[in-house]
Amino acid sequence: MASERITQKDLYKILGAEPSDSPAELKRKYQKLALLYHPDKQQADVPAGEVEERVQRFIEIDQAWKILGNEETKKEYDLQQHGLNICHVLFIEDNLTKEWPLHAQVYLEDMSWNEDEQCYTLSCRCGGNYTVFKSETKDVSLVCCDTCSLVIEILQ
Ligand SMILES: [Zn+2]
Repeated sequence: MASERITQKDLYKILGAEPSDSPAELKRKYQKLALLYHPDKQQADVPAGEVEERVQRFIEIDQAWKILGNEETKKEYDLQQHGLNICHVLFIEDNLTKEWPLHAQVYLEDMSWNEDEQCYTLSCRCGGNYTVFKSETKDVSLVCCDTCSLVIEILQ
């Protein structure tokens, strides 16, 4: 897991943005860069090596925006970046929910509070763990096990 996080590029950095930027701000930053590096907008006298670099940069910017420009993929990315075990944050009304093997309904109070990590944890019957970070408790309704495919529903 740790190595994955290290090799994963910081998409916000690619767009010259901050995770706290609003969607409108992100879009503005993306558009500015996309215009700057767009292959059609390059000057004819740019050396060949640099053209290549700029195209590469443009592709990166475009890929970063494809993830950060979409509310759902952005949220998923943000969660990943925070190193959370919550692999999917689904809301009850989401019809995907029905396809998930639901292990149990659990009240947050019934989970163990981990002071060091500032998160609630619960052991799964597979030996893995469900984890809900304190900052996420308001948004999260379903949490999946970090080891198997079981999901618990968090009741508040
Ligand atoms: Zn499990």
